[in-house]
Formats: sequence, structure tokens, C-alpha cells
Amino acid sequence: MATVRASCPTCGDVEMTTREVQVQVCTATEQGTYSFVCPRCHLIVNKPAERRVVDLLVAAGVRQVNWDLPAELSEPKVGPPITYDDLLAFHFELESDDWLDNVIAGGGPIGSR
Ligand SMILES: [Zn+2]
Repeated sequence: MATVRASCPTCGDVEMTTREVQVQVCTATEQGTYSFVCPRCHLIVNKPAERRVVDLLVAAGVRQVNWDLPAELSEPKVGPPITYDDLLAFHFELESDDWLDNVIAGGGPIGSR
């Protein structure tokens, strides 16, 4: 199994096996990243990777995971954007014991009551 040298923002250069690194590629944009758990500080490190780096890592035996943008991004958006006042009204609404009943009853947009 090949050894991979990578850089942790806290610890500097660290080494690990190809099994301890993972490559992620977005199927929509083809942008790649690689990630690993730092063997010294145990934090997850995630870094952008050009196609060439992705290919080298995968050729060395690193597992590649393909992912797609969330479907919510292509959903049509209706209504005005949420404001700070809406957020504050929602906060106060959640403090009441019957907030869920009010929502289920279709009390209209929060803050309009
Ligand atoms: Zn580290």
C-alpha cells in the first residue's frame, strides 16, 4: 500500500496510507477534493484537488467518492427572502407551547399574525 504525504493546517506535513485518504469529486462541476483524518491531531482535513491530483491519488489506490449538488438548489424559490424580523418572530414562536399546532393549523406566515 502506497504512502501519501499531505499537509495538515495545524501539524504541517504528515504521512498516511492510501487507505486513510479519500477523494471526492462533484459530478456536476467536476471539482475535486481530498480528505483525511490527521494522524497527529485527529482533525478532519479537506483540501481542494485539481484533476491531475485526483487522478494521481486514485491511481495510487485512494478511494474516490462521487457526489452531486443537492436537488434543493434547482427548486424554484417563491416568496420574499427571509429577513431578520422573520427569524426573530420564528424564535419567539418556538418558545410557545403550541407553536406546532399553530403551524399545522396553517396560521399563515410567521410574523404575519
Ligand atoms: Zn494535524
